[in-house]
Amino acid sequence: MYELIDGKATSAAIKEEIAEEVKQLVKEGAKTPHLAAILVGHDGASETYVASKEKSCSQVGFNSTVLRLEDDITEADLLEKVEAVNNDPGIDGLIVQLPLPAHINEQKIIEAIKPEKDVDGFHPVNVGRMVIGLPAFVSATPAGILELLKRYNIETSGKSCVVIGRSNIVGKPMSILLSQKNDFGNATVTLCHSRTPNLKEVTGQADIIIAALGRAEFLRADMVKEGAVVIDVGISRIRSDKTKSGWKLLGDVKFDEVAPKCSFITPVPGGVGPMTIVSLLRNTLLASKREIYK
Ligand code: NAP
Repeated sequence: MYELIDGKATSAAIKEEIAEEVKQLVKEGAKTPHLAAILVGHDGASETYVASKEKSCSQVGFNSTVLRLEDDITEADLLEKVEAVNNDPGIDGLIVQLPLPAHINEQKIIEAIKPEKDVDGFHPVNVGRMVIGLPAFVSATPAGILELLKRYNIETSGKSCVVIGRSNIVGKPMSILLSQKNDFGNATVTLCHSRTPNLKEVTGQADIIIAALGRAEFLRADMVKEGAVVIDVGISRIRSDKTKSGWKLLGDVKFDEVAPKCSFITPVPGGVGPMTIVSLLRNTLLASKREIYK
């Protein structure tokens, strides 16, 4: 029988821990952590993500500011806005909600964020520090997955892990974190992508599979060995006539088929998703305490 990894409950518990710490810090005279988000344009999904980050900030007692900018803003003007937040001592962390409109170079904007305030962990300085094992802001989704593995006492040391997907924000950092020489790494990691032949053979050997490719119900039972741990990162919005909204969310794993073979598995929704926001809150708290860049 598999155990369900409950990201919703875990994230709620972590939010309470953060809220408690903030209360204590403020009582001792520290400033209230403050997260700023830049939102360009009116993309529905981006609006939802930013609203949910704002709500989470208020749940844990952080201040938050959203800078709403029109989608015809020039790259130069956006860079100026980023610089203004960089120089604002009242703001600890800054995220720029992606994707940005096509006329703006995303990488240039990411690199304009001061590494000390880059709580998304996308700046090359933070990525580089993470790779060589220095304190760094770690990308929120892989950090959230590591936290789930820790809280469910899932051993990674000596295990064979397969990560499917090599994006800069999920797959690549995940593969590096799992292979780090530390308590929550020490795994032998295989990073797969769309050019990986015989994927089924590779995943079929894995003790831990992280599916982060964005293909609904891609991972099937015949790709997973008995007793594996399966972490489903994917979120695909699929039309459905069975829900009130007309949409349903599907992960990268065919849950009903795969779960019976697993020792642990995350659901979608309610698995990795809620942990991503919590990691962002944690990074913001670290930024306000100046714990990464002393
Ligand atoms: P991405 O940038 O689109 O990257 C997808 C990766 O999957 C690429 O490396 C791609 O290979 C690989 N891939 C695609 N099809 C494949 C196949 N058939 N076999 C093997 N590999 C394949 O995706 P992402 O931003 O990492 O996101 C992945 C999924 O996670 C999406 O559904 C996204 O919505 C979700 N997500 C969830 C959260 C959360 O909080 N739960 C956070 C972030 C993302 P190539 O490199 O060869 O193209």
